[in-house]
Amino acid sequence: MASSATRVDLDGKPITGITICMIGAGGFIGSHLCEKLMSETPHTVLAVDVYNDKIKHLLEPDSLPWTGRIQFHRINIKNDSRLEGLIKMADLTINLAAICTPADYNTRPLDTIYSNFIDALPVVKYCSENNKRLIHFSTCEVYGKTIGSYLPKDSPLRQDPAYYILKEDESPCIFGSIEKQRWSYACAKQLIERLIYAEGAENGLEFTIVRPFNWIGPRMDFIPGIDGPSEGVPRVLACFSNNLLRREPLKLVDGGESQRTFIYIKDAIEAVMLMIENPARANGHIFNVGNPNNEVTVRQLAEMMTKVYSKVSGEPSIDSPTIDVSSKEFYGEGYDDSDKRIPDMTIINKQLGWNPKTSLWDLLESTLTYQHRTYAEAIKQAIAKPIAS
Ligand code: NAD
Ligand code: UDP
Repeated sequence: MASSATRVDLDGKPITGITICMIGAGGFIGSHLCEKLMSETPHTVLAVDVYNDKIKHLLEPDSLPWTGRIQFHRINIKNDSRLEGLIKMADLTINLAAICTPADYNTRPLDTIYSNFIDALPVVKYCSENNKRLIHFSTCEVYGKTIGSYLPKDSPLRQDPAYYILKEDESPCIFGSIEKQRWSYACAKQLIERLIYAEGAENGLEFTIVRPFNWIGPRMDFIPGIDGPSEGVPRVLACFSNNLLRREPLKLVDGGESQRTFIYIKDAIEAVMLMIENPARANGHIFNVGNPNNEVTVRQLAEMMTKVYSKVSGEPSIDSPTIDVSSKEFYGEGYDDSDKRIPDMTIINKQLGWNPKTSLWDLLESTLTYQHRTYAEAIKQAIAKPIAS
């Protein structure tokens, strides 16, 4: 562990250890953030989640160098009176808890809205009432669709960044109609952002809002039938990893034309660390956190993942590596999509001097190496079972 005496913030002031109440610490982002906080900082984490599988390696054995600096609290924040006590004990609360897989937005819209708005309300209230700082995880999805997506297909304005770059303090939030229940998540996240912003304006809440743009890496979601339900539909990285591991074609929803920018989780965690340790620069801000240089269509992502997986597994790809599926078939009624997501980086550059580093190829190589090492054997056994019995 780096000693606290040698670590300084962006203004050259020494960083002293704080206590962080991290809600949703057992998830993908939480597990990487806990890892970083344990290995490189003096901070203490009160880790709140209903699961801890992804942070088990940080919790035991007792001989770990950071023993005593991380405590796991198995709490469902929907209905547990211990939450306020933990927020009071901490200097900072980070709220990551959410239902955040698109397959749920149109099929479980009530759970999605409750999780992303109603369940986050007490967290905001306890922080505000107890004068505690809050870092709240929102999403790039609050931008919805780009302005450009409403222009005629052949309009030259579609190429103009003014019609697609997403800026925290300027871009509108553009969602589809109410029947398009895909937007239940974005709308709930938008309303909690507005509430937090209003708590800041009216009651002086010290807050930072993070809008992640497709953070990906090891431990993201689950592989259906191995460490998650067989019928479950995770986010695209895990869907495509699952297809590659099983030597099935990758499914391109509505032709795979949507565009995304993907960022390596380890780059993104660096940005969150700067927010944690530079409150004066981060408070009162909403930050896009993404990698504008890593833009691809979903089809291009599938092609690149196929090549990278072939390299890391040593297995040639199958003859037809992709297959088209309709969104109705894949996600059901009420699905809709964000067309394009490129983050503007002006605010995070100015406040925190942060920039992402890792190229899409490199981040896929390290992530798919992890997926292959973690799951290839289990998948082989799962595939072999029905034939053997
Ligand atoms: P994740 O699903 O891996 O982690 C969320 C964690 O919250 C899970 O471990 C879950 O068990 C926990 N949780 C949910 N409801 C809870 C409850 N009622 N009580 C206690 N724990 C609960 O997701 P993630 O990718 O780590 O995302 C974290 C946050 O970042 C979410 O708010 C999400 O909306 C946001 N986000 C992430 C991305 C991304 O690229 N990964 C993109 C946009 C937004
Ligand atoms: N997608 C796909 N095939 C899959 C899973 C996802 O084509 O097996 C598409 C999905 O329709 C969307 C994009 O990949 O256009 C990214 O999906 P993800 O689930 O990662 O979440 P999003 O970026 O939409 O929040």
